[in-house]
Amino acid sequence: MARKKINLKISSVDTREMRLGTITSWDGSASELVDASRYEARGRGRVTGGGEADREGCHGGGKVCRLRELKMPFNQQTMCSHAIVACQLGNLTDCILVEHAPIGCSASNARFNQGFKIGLARRGKPIQSIQIFSTNLKENDMVFGASDRLRQTVRDANERFGPKAIFISMSCSTAIIGEDLDSLAQELETELKIPVVPVYCEGFRSKHWSTGFDASQHGIVRQIVNKNPKKQNDLINIVALWGTDYFTPMLAPLGLRVNYMVDMASFSELRQASEAAATATFCHTLGSYMATALEEYYGVPQIDAPQPFGIAGTDDWLRAVAKAVGKEDIIDDYIESEHRRISPRLEELRKILKGVKGFVSTGSSYAHAMISVIRDLGIEVEGSIVFHHDPVYDAGHENQDTLGHLVRNSGDLAHFTVSQTQQFQFHGLLKRVNPDFIIIRHNGLAPLAAKLGIPSFPMGDEHFPLGYDGIIRTGEALIGILAKKKFNAVLKRHVEIPYTDWWLSQEDQFILAKHPEILDEPDETKTPLGADRSANPIQMDPDDNLSAPEEKLRYA
Ligand code: SF4
Repeated sequence: MARKKINLKISSVDTREMRLGTITSWDGSASELVDASRYEARGRGRVTGGGEADREGCHGGGKVCRLRELKMPFNQQTMCSHAIVACQLGNLTDCILVEHAPIGCSASNARFNQGFKIGLARRGKPIQSIQIFSTNLKENDMVFGASDRLRQTVRDANERFGPKAIFISMSCSTAIIGEDLDSLAQELETELKIPVVPVYCEGFRSKHWSTGFDASQHGIVRQIVNKNPKKQNDLINIVALWGTDYFTPMLAPLGLRVNYMVDMASFSELRQASEAAATATFCHTLGSYMATALEEYYGVPQIDAPQPFGIAGTDDWLRAVAKAVGKEDIIDDYIESEHRRISPRLEELRKILKGVKGFVSTGSSYAHAMISVIRDLGIEVEGSIVFHHDPVYDAGHENQDTLGHLVRNSGDLAHFTVSQTQQFQFHGLLKRVNPDFIIIRHNGLAPLAAKLGIPSFPMGDEHFPLGYDGIIRTGEALIGILAKKKFNAVLKRHVEIPYTDWWLSQEDQFILAKHPEILDEPDETKTPLGADRSANPIQMDPDDNLSAPEEKLRYA
């Protein structure tokens, strides 16, 4: 039997940089990144010879790796795996997450609560709040130990809410003091007689937050899913976030019911994951670990295709689903009828959007999907920023090479950048392609684009562009987004951005990785204190007519 890639015997997950060779800083063309990633060789284990990824983002054994990560001397801001676990395992309807951490590590939970409620509403589930407790550690706990605080918090949570399972997440602080989560979880599981799952997601464990998806899914597959599954041949797992349920109508013609995981799922929905006929996802960055674990341990096949976005991606994805569930006889008719159905509106949208230039800035494989959607609308895309890059996904299935699929099906991108939501690079990266709009997730970047005069489409509902209808939905929404160009142009004239002229004049946004010694050079032109801040007071301009008729006409 082949060696399993995922090890459920241990409670902690290997980080993405160790498993996949993930990088967070890179700049070049999309085709160069495809070439350097060597997806097929990594998928067959010829580059991933085992061992830890080296500092260049390559793996130790096997052939020489060509993927060289740029080493930035600092990180302006980022998320962490602990926060990702909060917005995954803290978004279950009848389980509880206990964060074994100081309260500062829970700072994003108010935002996650809002996302949870919006997601529940989209799926037609009763609205409730997130199910997260914090042990709220103080200095004394760091010195004298925090185990009793954790025991008390878990017991209180169990008594007050009667959850079906309790997850405990590690933070940097509790990792530093060496809390033995495995032993504590085992002890509490015996006492409370429900699954108590340790989750190792301390922020410093991994340089990219997406390791938090893997840590959450590892705990679920290891301790929650049914270990004696009864097959449900009409059930398909979809690893998703909070998006609208567009998968059900898309898969209904194949006679499939959808089992969404992880956000907004109940304990019983997670438990039946091992019983499904197949596992798929809207985003391999998100779903690859869980799909591979279910495939390797429970024989649930994962869909060996890119993602269901854009015409080519949706065609390939539907064919792969049909193959996995034995519906190959009807799939070509279904696809042809869908092409015919959307064709008239798609042609209209292409005429309206001709000559428009777009830019995509989202998580890794989701960006590949978004670019294919807007290119199907006839929009030019020359640049993109992804927040990290996985040169291979966990299963190593060749048809899941989403970046390769994008380049082969719709062409290269001259400027393809890996940058972990670094605001200071965003300005220069947008300037070199000068787009008419950007599609963005992680909305903290959208205000900067707005200040540069570029309207943003914050893709809050990640399923919005899904499938054939998603192309039409996206095109129609973009007409509305482009109508805001005038507003953004006015905004640009009246705001200033907080970077020096020296930095704004740099052509290479990774110059600090190549020449970190620049940071030590004394030079007043590099400090924002030298700038004259009084020169640009905010006042209305007679030209700032937001309802200019020519602007309306252009995008009507
Ligand atoms: S990086 Fe560490 S300290 Fe910061 S929020 Fe994440 S777990 Fe907490």
